[in-house]
Amino acid sequence: MLDTDFFRRWMTVTAASVDREADRLTALDSPIGDADHGSNLRRGFTAVTAALEEESPETPGAVLTLAGRRLISTVGGASGPLYGTLLRRTGKALGDAAEVDERLFAEALRAGVDAVMQLGGAAPGDKTMIDALVPAVDRLADGFGAARSAAEQGAEATTPMLARKGRASYLGERSIGHQDPGATSSALLIAALAEAEGK
Ligand code: ADP
Ligand code: MG
Ligand code: MG
Repeated sequence: MLDTDFFRRWMTVTAASVDREADRLTALDSPIGDADHGSNLRRGFTAVTAALEEESPETPGAVLTLAGRRLISTVGGASGPLYGTLLRRTGKALGDAAEVDERLFAEALRAGVDAVMQLGGAAPGDKTMIDALVPAVDRLADGFGAARSAAEQGAEATTPMLARKGRASYLGERSIGHQDPGATSSALLIAALAEAEGK
């Protein structure tokens, strides 16, 4: 079972990992974007960590909906509303249970990823965060370690893709040959599940 503390750890581990990797995320956003992905997410997840301390949400669903709201209100770039929707929708699907099992979490995260696809209009293969998130939810039944490997492979697989959504799509063919920053940060988010579980 996954309790409220697990979801708090998921968010704080993600915040630490985004902070550590911010320069790399921004560097990836330089050739095919506007070089702000690392700073966008660092600002967002720093605010998430602060909000969790201030408001002490008491259920897994409340942790994720608060985190999602905070990302939407603090991140101006495309990734803010997209990650915000992911976490808010996932949190909503968890309802108000005090603990959730891995199966319910996998279903909830699937609903969250579907909401991101609806909001942003991206499908797998469009060179976005979706290319890490969809393989991750597809493997979640096999555990967080399997989901993490799938997300990392999904992020790497964006390199030869032509971007069809977001800023990178403005570059057309020139977007080919660069790993997508959002898919890379999504792999960090999924990797944080495995790390939060081990703590
Ligand atoms: P911005 O492009 O506004 O500067 P960020 O740099 O923070 O925002 O985030 C860029 C990332 O957001 C991209 O690498 C991509 O993964 C993701 N992204 C952009 N548009 C979409 C979309 N429509 N659907 C899904 N993901 C998207
Ligand atoms: Mg950017
Ligand atoms: Mg920007």
